[in-house]
Amino acid sequence: MEKICVAVRVRPPTPDSSSKNASSLWKVEDNRISLDTPLLGASYSFDHVFDEMSRNACVYELLTKDIIHAAVEGFNGTVFAYGQTSSGKTFTMTGSETDPGIIRRSVRDVFERIRMISDREFLIRVSYMEIYNEEINDLLAVENQRLQIHEHWECGVFVDGLREEIVHDAEQILKLLDFGEVNRHFGETNMNVHSSRSHTIFRMVIESRGKGNSSTDAIRVSVLNLVDLAGSERIAKTGAGGVRLTEGKYINKSLMTLGNVINKLSENTKIRGHIPYRDSKLTRILQPALGGNAKTCIICTIAPEEYHIEESKGTLQFASRAK
Ligand code: ADP
Ligand code: MG
Repeated sequence: MEKICVAVRVRPPTPDSSSKNASSLWKVEDNRISLDTPLLGASYSFDHVFDEMSRNACVYELLTKDIIHAAVEGFNGTVFAYGQTSSGKTFTMTGSETDPGIIRRSVRDVFERIRMISDREFLIRVSYMEIYNEEINDLLAVENQRLQIHEHWECGVFVDGLREEIVHDAEQILKLLDFGEVNRHFGETNMNVHSSRSHTIFRMVIESRGKGNSSTDAIRVSVLNLVDLAGSERIAKTGAGGVRLTEGKYINKSLMTLGNVINKLSENTKIRGHIPYRDSKLTRILQPALGGNAKTCIICTIAPEEYHIEESKGTLQFASRAK
C-alpha cells in the first residue's frame, strides 16, 4: 500500500480584508504549520506545507509530478484539493493565467512524457464530471445528467454513459476543460459569491501498448483523477436554509466518507477492516484509484484570515487524520 501524501497550503490574505485581517494568522516553518501566537501553540506537521508565497509551479513539482509520471507508467493516481470555500482549491487545481494549476500542468506533462517514450503507443481518454447533491453530471455533455454507477466483472466500477473523449494533444484537453467549466454548478452563500457546491473530477485514462513483439507488449491502463472538492465549511457558517442546506448535507456526508476512507487506508492493513467506499458516490467512483498501489495526494487549503480560524482548524484536523 502506497502512503498517502498530505500537504497543506495557505493562501495569501485577500487584498480587501480589513486591516485587522490583512495578515495571516498562521506561521509556516518547513513542513510545520502553527497559529502565529505563542499562547495557542498547537502545531501540525505534514509531508509538505506551502506558505502564501508558494506558486502552483512549486506545488506541482513537489506533490504531483511523480504521480503524473507514474500514471504514464501504468499506476493509478488521485490528487485532491480539500478546504473551505475561498481557501484556494480552484486556484490550486485550475490556477490563473500567469500561474497555471495542477490540472493544466499535469495535462502538459503527460504529453511531454509520452513523447519521450518511443517503444510504446498511447491512447488517452478524458472525462470531466461533477457530483452535485449525490448526482453525477457530465461536464462534457450537458445532456448526460444523473448518471448511474455500475460495476462490470472485467472493467470494475464505472459511470454509465459518461462521455470519454479521445485526445491527441494537451491543447485539445484544455479546450474541453474550458467547455466543462461553463457547465459547473455555482451557488451563492453569504461566504463567497461563487462558492462551489459540487465536487468535480477531471479524469485521464492512459492506455499504452508496447510496439513490436517485445515483453513490453502488455497493455497497461491507468486512471488519473484530479479532484476539486466542494467547500468543506460547516452548514451553520453559511447561514443556509432550503437548497443550500440540502447541498451542505450532501457535501458534509461525502467529505466525511472521504475522510473515513482515507483514514482507513492510512491504517495498518491488518487492523483496518472494512473500507466504506460505498457510502458516497465520490469514494465509489474513485475507489480503483484510492488504495492498493495507487498514488494519492491531498492538498488541504487554508484561508488565513482570523474570521476563518475554526474552519482552518477543521481542515487541519481532516489533514491530520489522513496522514
Ligand atoms: P476555492 O476554490 O477554495 O473556493 P479559490 O481558489 O477560488 O477558492 O480562491 C479564492 C480566491 O483567492 C481567488 O480569488 C483566488 O484567485 C485567490 N487565491 C487562492 N489561492 C491563492 C494563492 N495561493 N495565491 C494567490 N491567490 C490565491
Ligand atoms: Mg473553487
